[in-house]
Amino acid sequence: MKSLWNEHDAAQFTDDLGLRVYTSRLLGRDSSLVLHGGGNTSVKITQKNILGEEEEILYVKGSGWDLETIDRAGFAPVRMKHLLALAHLERLSDPEMVNELRTNTIDAAAPTPSVEAILHAVLPHKYVDHTHSDTLVTVTNTERGLERIKEIYGDSVVIIPYVMPGFDLARDCALRFALDAGPNTIGMVLLNHGIFSFGATARESYERMIALVDRAERYLQSQNAWTFSLPPVKPAPPSLRRELAALRAQLSQQAGTPFIVSWQDDEKSRAYAAHPETARIAQQGPATPDHVIRTKRLPLIGRDIDGYVRAYRDYFDAHAATAREPKTLLDPTPRVILDKEWGMAAVGHTAKDAAIVRDIYNHTIDVILRAEALGGYRALSARDLFDMEYWDLEQAKLRKGGKPPLFTGEVALVTGAASGIGKACVESLLARGAAVVGLDIDTAIASLHNKAAFRGIHCDITDETQLIAALETAVRAYGGLDMLILNAGVFPPGRRIEALATAEWQRVMRINLDANLVLLREAHPLLKHAPRGGRVVVIGSKNVPAPGPGAAAYSASKAALNQLARVTALEWGGDGIRINSLHPNAVFDTGLWTEDVLAARAAHYGMSVEHYKTNNVLKVEVRSRDVAELAAEMCGPLFAKTTGAQLPVDGGNDRVI
Ligand code: ZN
Repeated sequence: MKSLWNEHDAAQFTDDLGLRVYTSRLLGRDSSLVLHGGGNTSVKITQKNILGEEEEILYVKGSGWDLETIDRAGFAPVRMKHLLALAHLERLSDPEMVNELRTNTIDAAAPTPSVEAILHAVLPHKYVDHTHSDTLVTVTNTERGLERIKEIYGDSVVIIPYVMPGFDLARDCALRFALDAGPNTIGMVLLNHGIFSFGATARESYERMIALVDRAERYLQSQNAWTFSLPPVKPAPPSLRRELAALRAQLSQQAGTPFIVSWQDDEKSRAYAAHPETARIAQQGPATPDHVIRTKRLPLIGRDIDGYVRAYRDYFDAHAATAREPKTLLDPTPRVILDKEWGMAAVGHTAKDAAIVRDIYNHTIDVILRAEALGGYRALSARDLFDMEYWDLEQAKLRKGGKPPLFTGEVALVTGAASGIGKACVESLLARGAAVVGLDIDTAIASLHNKAAFRGIHCDITDETQLIAALETAVRAYGGLDMLILNAGVFPPGRRIEALATAEWQRVMRINLDANLVLLREAHPLLKHAPRGGRVVVIGSKNVPAPGPGAAAYSASKAALNQLARVTALEWGGDGIRINSLHPNAVFDTGLWTEDVLAARAAHYGMSVEHYKTNNVLKVEVRSRDVAELAAEMCGPLFAKTTGAQLPVDGGNDRVI
């Protein structure tokens, strides 16, 4: 492990807090040190308050901020005097502690200080860095963890036996640090939890962290426990989407709410799942206790969801009975699934939650395999992990959670998603909490949104193989398919029938009609497994009820698609799948409407472009977003009892009315 300190970059940060921001980001850049909010940093600064008095303030990472992207505003300023006084209390409940931290910040707009704030305060150094380093938890999660830490560090660290984060840990650290710290102390190791370093400058504290972790890495290397090999495995099955969608349906059904299930079938995941000792090594617990909140204590190995849920309830009952306060059972759904053929799945209420679980478990695999090589992985006891999972601060957070967005945990697929109505549909569905897969022939689709809830796939929908591959990718990414928006289409230049070439007619039919038949057919087994019932929305056209001259191929293709949708409604109602059509007209902010087409159509009706845009009964311009919002709502509860319907979204058209 190497220091990432760079003089040139550091020079942009001139004051104490600025340098705190800089080295915090350096820590955040290494996911083996800091992962998804794990770890925190602080700096102590003496400054004048509004009365002109000198006051020492602890700037400590605020909750909800990640070290990788933290800014000055991410550090909560808390009065040191009060923090040190709190550290001397005999006892303080964790909710009381959080209240004290919040009410003793000097900025009303500050984030809630880290629950480890008191711990930072009691360490008598200007800068304090704390990480949940994979390497440290690897060494300490073994049978002889304590002895190994002593062997690696000698008197350069103070060692703290495991205590759950919160007030008790802060007080323990204060006492032990006062007793054990000597002239050579540059850090503190918290067994089964992580490591602290400290120093007089931002650079010193940061580089001590790097040096300390580097020593542990070298130790693992010297013990042949750094690189590990896994037995070879057979290639992953090429087509799994139906089985995966069925498993997600079962998972969602027992929970009573849809889940995102994100699969990775790389060799490492499959080999780990197939490891002969999986039942022992993977069934102990997470690498560090804060992971239990994301991943739960144990993964599901195999596919017996009911068995997992029963075991989880037993674990809850056994530990809740002896807890100090009453506990409420959390959702017992597994968050990690290991399957020797399918690989590893991360489960979450949202795609972002699932992505976090996936990252954490990928690190967990490394920690477990290295600890195994070192002499045997040994996680915290079920009791300690239960106390963390059911920590009253975490339970309070759950009680606070408001109503989630409409499509939380659901998956939508939109064709023609890179521009116009399709792009707007992606936005409307994302805004309602869905994970969205966008297909488009335009390669720009891949980078349309940079977020866990979006996957853009470059795809020619007239190519059956590509379409099927896209569905496979969609299901592996999110677990299944709940909503389908058939939007992709072409609007060729106006041409009278006597001039319409067969090839052009066929091209329009292939894109606007045939591709949708293939997609519907291939999506059916997936939509059938949608936990809340499958939904399809067809973006039709005003040309269905009121065709225009010069648009024979387009009008005929959309009319045929309309008829296909009506038959679909009849055939699939029994599977709980509903399909409805929208007929937009004159939506000009789309890929179809080039300047030329727009001008030609306006001229055809003898109008200015402006007049043409609002040429409807209500005299309003219909935008992509208007169509998309209606399409999204058609997938929601408002239309729960409607199928086979056609709805105009055209500002009112006298030929349609
Ligand atoms: Zn920690």
